[in-house]
Amino acid sequence: MKRRSWAEPYKIKMVEPLKMLSKKEREKAIDEAGYNTFLLRSEDVYIDLLTDSGTSAMSDRQWAGLMLGDEAYAGSRNFYHLEETVQTIYGYKHLVPTHQGRAAEHMISKILIKQGDYVPGNMYFTTTKLHQEMAGAKFVDVIIDEAHDPNSEYPFKGDIDLNKLQALIDKVGADKIPYVAMATTVNMAGGQPISLNNLKAVRELTQKYGIDIVHDMTRVAENAYMIQQKEPGYQDKTVAEIVKEINSLTDHATMSAKKDALVNIGGFLATNDQRVFEEARNMVVVYEGLHTYGGLAGRDMEAMAIGIKESVMDEHQKARVGQVQYLGNLLLKQGIPVVKPIGTHGVFLDAKAFYPHLTQDEFPAQTLAAELYIDSGVRAMERGVVSAGRNKETGKHNYPKLELVRLTIPRRVYTQAHMDVVAESVIDVYENAKNARGLKMIYEPKYLRFFQARFEKL
Ligand SMILES: *Cc1c(COP(=O)(O)O)cnc(C)c1O
Repeated sequence: MKRRSWAEPYKIKMVEPLKMLSKKEREKAIDEAGYNTFLLRSEDVYIDLLTDSGTSAMSDRQWAGLMLGDEAYAGSRNFYHLEETVQTIYGYKHLVPTHQGRAAEHMISKILIKQGDYVPGNMYFTTTKLHQEMAGAKFVDVIIDEAHDPNSEYPFKGDIDLNKLQALIDKVGADKIPYVAMATTVNMAGGQPISLNNLKAVRELTQKYGIDIVHDMTRVAENAYMIQQKEPGYQDKTVAEIVKEINSLTDHATMSAKKDALVNIGGFLATNDQRVFEEARNMVVVYEGLHTYGGLAGRDMEAMAIGIKESVMDEHQKARVGQVQYLGNLLLKQGIPVVKPIGTHGVFLDAKAFYPHLTQDEFPAQTLAAELYIDSGVRAMERGVVSAGRNKETGKHNYPKLELVRLTIPRRVYTQAHMDVVAESVIDVYENAKNARGLKMIYEPKYLRFFQARFEKL
């Protein structure tokens, strides 16, 4: 077949020069950072794939929007623009802005959870689970088994296992389950989407028992794009239409606008429930700021409103997810062990398969992220035993089945040539995998340890 290429639906107006260190300098930098890529200075990084959070390039429209910031303490016009955008694009009735996603998670957890409750979810996310636990609940993973298998090619590995959910309801009773935590694209499973078919079934089951659904909608538009590409019956629907349909099946939403919504800071809690809205609107004053700014400047809310509209455009998602798939396919072609299928916001390297000679106590994913930085200045993130933390009761490490390194692609930031450089480096590190020796943890913070833990080479 004749090749027809496509490219990004934008051109570049401004550039940010990058510094490149020598290999010797990188070895010194990662040693000083305790072999934790979170502790590197960004100046010492060449291609930064640590996270897609807050790292997107804003459009000229969004930058222009910053100049329209109405920095009134109360009733900023940007709040009303954002509120109207959340209502029309996402379809939720009430909006409480927050400085980022975890502040919304904090509030919804405090409002809905009672001590001793259970919160089932399609796998966990670090901050989400922590806030559920701090509010007194026990998190229960009810994602389908395929999500834990990096080789399963099932296209909707974010789906909820209805039998697991039913079993939990039968065991603890519906009154001990305030809500199901449902994320669109499951970050920890490799950026895997949930299907609408599954979500509809979850809605039906939860409705039967009067259980709410809290939607972590951080990457809802990316999830919608995958539904359009892969779920029968959705090929002719737009991303915007699918986003609305997903949201309509849920009761409340938490949003980290630093992902899908193309801003560097921002988030919100949205709900269709008047009582929850009133509580959150009151609580936000304590933790974030007045309910018409929630820890954000007016200009931030303006950029977010514009970013939300851009995020649900088909062309945007085609280029965004397309770039991630491009990198993933380069690696697949070379036989690099990655989580399959390729997700929407990053490519997840299977560190256990890179380093079969390392045990989880030697932190294979942490090791791989460090080796990649030393090889090329590419910064990635550990998603393995360090991220999984310790069991609250036993104090032992949680040993997740997956030991992953996430190459997360910022939106609209890097070019295809950058992706080629990344792929070439990963291939080199894979070829030298036998020589890696693993790490020892020498400092461990109490909460979300992956951010600040320090290691030394074994
Ligand atoms: C980033 C993220 C969050 C937390 O949002 P912050 O803006 O970082 O506080 C919650 N859920 C998912 C799935 C995320 O990716």
